[in-house]
Amino acid sequence: MGYELVIGLETHVELSTESKLFCSCGGHSSANEPNDCVCPACSGMPGMLPVVNRHAIELAVKAGLMLNCKINQYTTFDKKSYYYPDLPAAYQTTQWFHPICVEGLVDVEVAGETRQIGIKQIHVEEDAGKLVHTNDSSLVDYNRTSVPLIEIVTKPDFRSSAEVISYLKALKSKLQFAGISECEEGAMRCDINISVRPEGSEVLGVRTEIKNMSSLTSIEEAINKEAIRHIDAIERRTEILVQETRRWDDVKKRTFPMRNKETAADYRYFPDPNVMPVVIDDEWLAEIKADMPATVSEQIEKYMSLGLSEKEANAAAAEANLSAILDGVIAKGIEAKTAAGWLLTDGLGILKKNNIQPKDLVLDTDKFAWIINAANKGEITRNAGKTVLTAVILENVDPESYCKENNLTAQNDIELVKSVVAKAIENNPKAIEDYKAGKEKAILAVFGAAMRELRGTASPDLINKLLKEMIS
Ligand code: ADP
Ligand code: MG
Ligand code: ZN
Repeated sequence: MGYELVIGLETHVELSTESKLFCSCGGHSSANEPNDCVCPACSGMPGMLPVVNRHAIELAVKAGLMLNCKINQYTTFDKKSYYYPDLPAAYQTTQWFHPICVEGLVDVEVAGETRQIGIKQIHVEEDAGKLVHTNDSSLVDYNRTSVPLIEIVTKPDFRSSAEVISYLKALKSKLQFAGISECEEGAMRCDINISVRPEGSEVLGVRTEIKNMSSLTSIEEAINKEAIRHIDAIERRTEILVQETRRWDDVKKRTFPMRNKETAADYRYFPDPNVMPVVIDDEWLAEIKADMPATVSEQIEKYMSLGLSEKEANAAAAEANLSAILDGVIAKGIEAKTAAGWLLTDGLGILKKNNIQPKDLVLDTDKFAWIINAANKGEITRNAGKTVLTAVILENVDPESYCKENNLTAQNDIELVKSVVAKAIENNPKAIEDYKAGKEKAILAVFGAAMRELRGTASPDLINKLLKEMIS
């Protein structure tokens, strides 16, 4: 009998706010030492009154808008009680009764096929602290305590690990693009709920939940392994499936039970009387909507209408930083296709060589536009342009003075180019002989010698033309 895999995801991401969810402490990323960013409120001192971070609410709404959710304009916070040393208040403030976003829908694409995944809800909550274990003790660091998170809960709509991976990749780029979360390595954490059922069945099977997964490779392996365990349990009665929480062991490549699944009753959810309900009125909602960036697919569409190929449009739109730079130079009057060529061929080439991630590229669009314009007007060659672009990217030099100082302006002095080409011919008699004997490629050595001498400042076409004239 065939089985169908059923998966639902709960994904936690940290919001890109300046401060924590209920106090003005900076986030843990601004901390230098353990317990640097802690105050009475976020360390759970009794009697402290929390104040909701407005920016966190706005970012959560943006996430909801990106995932086509309904925004609950009346949203509240609740206490989820449990005891653990990384949770100083012994309860987490989260949203249980009136989560901020509900009923969303996103497309996932696998091998050219699109399926829709329902979003059950998005709620805002605070992160816990961090435990640091030493040989004989454990230490707590509260820097991360109360940093704002959103948890995005899907319906059990995924049918394969490939769909999950595709969803997570798209989610990450959407969240980064809209400035909702930086989604740093490992900072996007998922709980994977998984069950199997006979093909054609509408009834959900017993589910297990694999906690706290962040690497995509492990997520894929864990889902596939866990599915096999479920099917074996049903088909071969290797064990009895129970609803429980499990953890993935990346070395043993299997899941292990952690604890029985808690039920909502275990957490004693109740409205947090200290946190005022948040009302997002129509005006505020409109402001948040107006502040949303164009979506990736809107950007792709725009770029293609400006003449970029689909491949170029995808590459530029996929990375918010590249997209912003491209938009910046286009706004300065550079033709889109030309700008894309410089950014995606030369720019990305330079980044790759220097081990810089596209998201970390810092490129002043005025300087970039100057280079492209100078090359367009023939004031510098493409080659020289690439040299200046490298210097601008790596050292943020002023391109115009850099070109002058380094003699990179185009050699329009035809007499000089002629003399350099003549010298190159004279210095490479063997290559010339080979070329005359029919070895077309031999001329490249001579071309290269002339180009080197001119430091890439003359146009390749001119050198070629002179070479051919002078040899024949
Ligand atoms: P809980 O409150 O117990 O965490 P939820 O209803 O919020 O339960 O579901 C948590 C996640 O588990 C959701 O992503 C949901 O889609 C998923 N889920 C629920 N039932 C199943 C199931 N039988 N198989 C796979 N995933 C499931
Ligand atoms: Mg849950
Ligand atoms: Zn604080």
